[in-house]
Formats: sequence, C-alpha cells, structure tokens
Amino acid sequence: MDLTRSDILALLGCLKIALPKETTLSEGALKKRLSQALDAAQSFDKVIGLSTPIKPLDYGTWPSSSQPLSEALRRGNLMEATQNSMMGLTQEQRGMIPNSTKEEDTFTELRQILLNFGHRYDAGGRVFVLQDTQQESAIIVRLLDVRAIDDKSPLLVLLYKPVKPTPAKRLYDVISPFIAPSTAIISVSTTELERKMFLKLVSQNAKHVSSSYKPQRSPTESDFTLSVMLPLGPLNMHDLGKLNSNFGCELCGKREASKCTGCFSVVYCGKECQTADWKDHKKTCKTLKGGTWLTIHFERPPGFSTIMNRYDSPREQSLRTTVQSDADGPPPNIHSNKIFLVKMQSSLTLTSDADAQMLIYDRQRSFQAYWKKYGGSSGHDDFEVYRKAEREIAGGWQGIKMYRWARRVGDYELSVCFDRAPGTDPVW
Ligand SMILES: [Zn+2]
Ligand SMILES: [Zn+2]
Repeated sequence: MDLTRSDILALLGCLKIALPKETTLSEGALKKRLSQALDAAQSFDKVIGLSTPIKPLDYGTWPSSSQPLSEALRRGNLMEATQNSMMGLTQEQRGMIPNSTKEEDTFTELRQILLNFGHRYDAGGRVFVLQDTQQESAIIVRLLDVRAIDDKSPLLVLLYKPVKPTPAKRLYDVISPFIAPSTAIISVSTTELERKMFLKLVSQNAKHVSSSYKPQRSPTESDFTLSVMLPLGPLNMHDLGKLNSNFGCELCGKREASKCTGCFSVVYCGKECQTADWKDHKKTCKTLKGGTWLTIHFERPPGFSTIMNRYDSPREQSLRTTVQSDADGPPPNIHSNKIFLVKMQSSLTLTSDADAQMLIYDRQRSFQAYWKKYGGSSGHDDFEVYRKAEREIAGGWQGIKMYRWARRVGDYELSVCFDRAPGTDPVW
C-alpha cells in the first residue's frame, strides 16, 4: 500500500497542514512533512526522543487494572477543547461520532482506532483486523504488550501485517492461518486511506524499536513487523506553525520569489508556478485587486481557561484529556506570511458602545482574538479603522459578521483587506 502524492496531500490536510492543490513540492519533501507531522501528533520527541532506540522492557508494565488504557490514550488540544465546548459537546461525545469515511476525518478516525485498541485491550482483546467492508484488503494487528513510559504515556507494542485476498482465497481465508485457534478477532471497519495512514505511522515507528528487543512470536507471525504506538493527539499550534510555514513561492516553496502583480498578495518564484496555481488563485486575485490593506491591533481573549473549566465538573472529570496548552503569549502563527480568511463578528453581549469589540478568528481557529473599538491594552488607536470595519460589517450577514482576507504582520497585528469581500462567503 504505497502512498500516492494525492494520499500524502490528503493526509497532510487531515492533520491541518494545508498546501495548494497544485503544489510542486517534491514527493520527498511532502513525505518528510508527513513523517514530521506524525511524530508531532505523537509528541514523539518529547515522550521518548527521536534518536533513542526504544527498548520496551526498560519500562514497567502498564497498570491496566488501576489505569484503563482507553483513558490514558486520550489526547486533545486547546483548540479542539474550545471547539467542542463552543459546540456544547464534550470530547467524549464528539469522539464517538462513528465511522466517518470523509478524507478530512481520516486522522480523527485513526485516533478512534487507537482508542478502540485501548478499550478492547482493557477487556482482554489482543488481535485486531482493520479491514474495509468490501473485504479487499486488511491489516492484522496483534497487541503484544503495553508498557508505561511514565504514568501518562502508555507504549503499545504490536506486530502487524497487511494482507490481501487472492483470486483463490477470500480475505477471511488469507487471515485465518495467521491467527491462533480460539482467539477472538476484533474486526475494525476502516477506509483505505485510514489503513494507509495506520501503515505509515507504524512503519515509521518501527524504525525506532531497538533491534535488541526480540519479543516472542508465534511461528505464523515470523514475517510480521514489530512496531509501537503512542497516544495520538492533534498537532499543537507550535508544530502546525512549523509544518505549515513556507516563506517562498506559494507553490514550490522556492525562496527567490516575487509578488503576483494582480493582487500583490501571493508570491511565486516565476511564471511557471504562477500559471500552475492560477486556477486556484484566480478568484481570490480578482476579488483582492486594488484593495486597501489596513493594520489592526488585536488581543487574546483572557478566557481560554474559563472555557475549559466549563467541563471541569466532577462528573466530567473522567472525560478530561491531556491538553497541550497554547495559551501563553501571542497566538501562534500557522499561516506564516500567507493571506487567509478571517471571520469578524460583532460582539453579541455588548452592553455599551464603550465596550464595542469584534471577535476575529480563522477557519482552523488557530487564533481567536478580540479587536476593541476604543483601543485595547496595547494602547494603539484603531478607531478610524474600526469605524470602517463597522460600516463593512453592516453590509455583511445580518449585519453582525463578515469574512475578509487577512495576513499576520505582527504578534498582535493583522493586516486586513476590508474593502474586498470574498466572492462567496465560506460557511464556518
Ligand atoms: Zn515556484
Ligand atoms: Zn494575485
């Protein structure tokens, strides 16, 4: 199951690393980004260290009876928690949305597969078959052991083997010789892309396992691959910023680049890349042409921890996840120097004009910021620009929100093209 170029782009996309559809970054560069993203999703470097050979027996056995694996495998981040609480759902409820086959949900589904491993392991299950409903291919997984790197980080040790049916043998007949008699098989329904992502993950993790570690395998498992898995969480903003950054040409990333003379908003290395990206960029370019970009000064809402605490009641205690905090300092910049759409929304809880402010955020909700009419804590006077924005917003949806192109120009500064609206309003 080799990853095609479009697989890699889809997988990067579901990890929230967005590249132009026609990106000409080399396949090697894309693969490298995907590997780094998967390392980051496991916090591999922090938990184990990327250059440390893993010797599972150096760690104690995971105390499943006192610490359910299914709980220990949960990871979230602040962005996810905020989104979930904004939607009035807990992590648990959100996480239980079953079997999405959408490409953009592939990573969420992979995390579900891992949680499923945890639930079943706690109940004594060891052998899993990840397969599709068409029975066209499958991956056999046997959990050998779970060790405790520390009290929050379980290490799953496993053997796996991808299999396919042959003209003579149905999938089930291909699988059954590998599985000891009277072993319960837990079948997990997956899409092809999910299995590809799983294989990418376990094959890159396999390289970290020390060659001195030789667990016992049954004779039928001699050509299974030995690997490990760590808890999987969404990428934090710091990692997303690094993996999304691309300071050169919009399409190929080359450094020497010049601005599109239509909109002066995107950068290409030359005619070739500009032409290749034109199909995607055309609409944006036309809407932005001749627009005025104005700088505004925003601040971070103080309430990130408050939002989290809404679900801190004792009843919800068991549902809490390990949250990676991005709450200190300026919001991370996942867009580097690129333009992106922001949603600007007048505050609905406004009590007087003196408190007037707009809430600003991007589609990924990588930042949520407030922009105040009468100057925020930074002391900048944005009053005139704010009035202009108010007039623009009055023409927007019910007069309370609008979408605009923006670019991050400082820790707490955005440059916004107020007088140009996107052709069609996105829905988020
Ligand atoms: Zn280029
Ligand atoms: Zn342009």
